[in-house]
Amino acid sequence: MDENRITEVLSDLVRIPSVNPGFPGGTGEGRVAVYVRQFFERLALSVDVQTVEACRDNVIGTLQGRGGRHLLWEAHMDTVQTSGMTIDPFAAGAREGKLYGRGACDTKASLAAMLVALETMVRHKLIPAAHVHLAAVIDEETTYKGVSALAERVRSGELRYDAAIVGEPTRLHPIIAHKGVLRFRVEVTGVAAHSSTPEQGANAIESMAEVIAWLRQHARESFPSRSHALTGPPSLCISMIEGGVAPNTVADRCTISIDIRTIPGQEWEDVWSELRERILLLPMPAGVKVEVHRPFLTDYAMEVSPDHPLTHTLLAAANTYSAGREAIGAPYCSDASKLTRVSVPAIVFGPGNISEAHTADEWVELAEVAKAAAILIYTAMHYGEEDED
Ligand SMILES: [Zn+2]
Repeated sequence: MDENRITEVLSDLVRIPSVNPGFPGGTGEGRVAVYVRQFFERLALSVDVQTVEACRDNVIGTLQGRGGRHLLWEAHMDTVQTSGMTIDPFAAGAREGKLYGRGACDTKASLAAMLVALETMVRHKLIPAAHVHLAAVIDEETTYKGVSALAERVRSGELRYDAAIVGEPTRLHPIIAHKGVLRFRVEVTGVAAHSSTPEQGANAIESMAEVIAWLRQHARESFPSRSHALTGPPSLCISMIEGGVAPNTVADRCTISIDIRTIPGQEWEDVWSELRERILLLPMPAGVKVEVHRPFLTDYAMEVSPDHPLTHTLLAAANTYSAGREAIGAPYCSDASKLTRVSVPAIVFGPGNISEAHTADEWVELAEVAKAAAILIYTAMHYGEEDED
């Protein structure tokens, strides 16, 4: 693998700002999408541009394979904000084998590995076993609009993928299971009164304390028994609280935000309705009303069978270039779950460490990006091979 070429392409990508417009100063993925489209055109690959919203396109390039399978490589083009960074986010400075910048690790390293892997196959006239489709998509860092629009075309039958590799920093471990997320608010309404006569009011904060105590006990008692072999048990975090109007007034309102991480096999709809039902049954003093709001953010957990042909091929490929790689689980969400929901088994894989994503001095090791490209080529050359002869 040509590490200079990897450095060149990754530097190009990092130098093009693509902060998600959902973040302050975010200008969007537009210019990266143009770069990717021109990259495909130079290689004479067929290109499909899917406009998701104004100036925000998914770009899909296809390299024909020799068999009948379709393998998707997917990577998001957006990054998080640059505020608080201690390095120039777009300088793409390289030193001691590392490349620095916003998105260098999450996930332009994966996108660069995929682009250079395709380019290498084209230049060396390597014909992959399966058709390889590289989809560079928008909006992973906020609301998954890019992959969702792509998945919709799979659901409708317009596009067909037999399996997918979703590029994210996994240190070259194939992630075959990850958690989902459910966020919602609980609101307690009471009755305001002067704090010198609290018996004349109904204290929303004190009743919320009961709700919180119950939630913590419930999570402690019932979550561990639902553990998944690769992701561990679900988790619950009360992440925000707001309530009261003045130091001398009985609080008539208190709201909390709850973040729950679900495991494969758990549907957020079920988790939310069960919690809602149980919370509404908690005994409350007169004048207190409890409301469990509908979730404001959800995402599904996902898993791919350890026996899926892509798991086997990717694991073999990863270990060929980087010993000790294992099929593991992760606590975070990714684009992969939107693909598994439309029956495309999707494995998360890429260079870099998730602990470097979104950081003040984000970087990735260039040698690892080169290895990722080699692993992707190996996978493309072998996935779907078992259908032959
Ligand atoms: Zn990412």
